[in-house]
Amino acid sequence: MSTTHCDPSPQCGAVLYCGEACLQTDWKRCPDDVSHQFWCPRLAAFMERAGELATLPFTYTAEVTSETFNKEAFLASRGLTRGYWMQLSMLISGPGTPRHPRGSMPSLSLLLRGDPYQLLQGDGPALMPPVPPDPPRGLFGSWQDYYTWRGLSFDSPMAVLLTYPLTVYYVITHLVPQSFPELNIQNKQSLKIHVVEAGKEFDLVMVFWELLVLLPHVALELQFVGDGLPPESDQQHFTLQRDGPEVPVRSGSGVSARLNSGTKEKGGRRDLHIKVSARPYHLLQGPKPDLVIGYNSGFGLKDTWLSLLPRLQSLRVPAFFTESSEYGCVMDDQTMAVATGGGTSPPQPNPFRSPFRLRAADNCMPWYCNAFIFHLVYKPPQGGAARPAPGPAPPAPTPAAPPAPARRRRGEKKPGRGSRRRS
Ligand SMILES: [Zn+2]
Repeated sequence: MSTTHCDPSPQCGAVLYCGEACLQTDWKRCPDDVSHQFWCPRLAAFMERAGELATLPFTYTAEVTSETFNKEAFLASRGLTRGYWMQLSMLISGPGTPRHPRGSMPSLSLLLRGDPYQLLQGDGPALMPPVPPDPPRGLFGSWQDYYTWRGLSFDSPMAVLLTYPLTVYYVITHLVPQSFPELNIQNKQSLKIHVVEAGKEFDLVMVFWELLVLLPHVALELQFVGDGLPPESDQQHFTLQRDGPEVPVRSGSGVSARLNSGTKEKGGRRDLHIKVSARPYHLLQGPKPDLVIGYNSGFGLKDTWLSLLPRLQSLRVPAFFTESSEYGCVMDDQTMAVATGGGTSPPQPNPFRSPFRLRAADNCMPWYCNAFIFHLVYKPPQGGAARPAPGPAPPAPTPAAPPAPARRRRGEKKPGRGSRRRS
């Protein structure tokens, strides 16, 4: 057997090994719960969802969800080689690809010039159709419904970028009402959302403009927070607006995006206010948000989560996170338990996940950007008989303690998180 050729574990088919000896070493790794013997059946269960995750309505689904999907070739063949598409190419790059250097990021003021969708263009005709004249009648729970209403062709790859705003939309319209009905989020006229440990999604910030189209009745404030954000963007804030009740049809889209130089917007309806705090979350001052979102989080991969999670627990704010795999969700649950004594809700597939399958060097697990969503389950307050507010989990059986001792395996690479976007 060649040393460069790897075969998957015969039972789970998830982890790649360069040979029998390599597999045997991993099989018996200590302690037990990092061994492949422990993980193999669990990974096999994750692998069983590959078909479900690859069920998407696009014409190119078979190509982009295959194990051998070549993202660069796909993007190039469609002329998607500039603006956000170029960034995307680097965004979800495989292991070993150099990290996108911050210095080459288009400056915020450049991003804000003109059409919000200009960075979503390829070389061909406009990719985003005009905004439909009427607001959505119902709530979208699938790409199928959203694409149909938005006038997007099922051949359009926009879902790859729109996964970010659509995930926020899905959390607001489906998951918060389901898990935190007492918040009555559907009736709120304004929402403050913190996007924590923000990074790459901030590089695509204009895609969040789509939230104005989807939730035209809500004044939204998105605050991107994290020490991974470009320092020069710290404390910047700007407003994206739809001009007037009707949105014009051309690519200009009737949006005005401008740097807000401190003048407070009055009557913020229809606006999307974007704020940036390039600092760790626990150092953030200001009012409590209505909602916290984190993309492809990886709690175990960065130390700042160990201060962030307790901070969220003390705020007791609904906090939703995406992961690219169920494996990531299990690790996040363990980190949450260690950091706060709480846990996480069972992850569910995100209907607005990115259709592009991510590839890793050491495994064939079905990973997708924003594949699964869960929310934090906070430990009940000390000595408090009352249910934590907001407390999604019924108090009867305590789901907080994971069956295995919740040990955090920092730096533990198996079964491979190499292609995750955080590093
Ligand atoms: Zn296996």
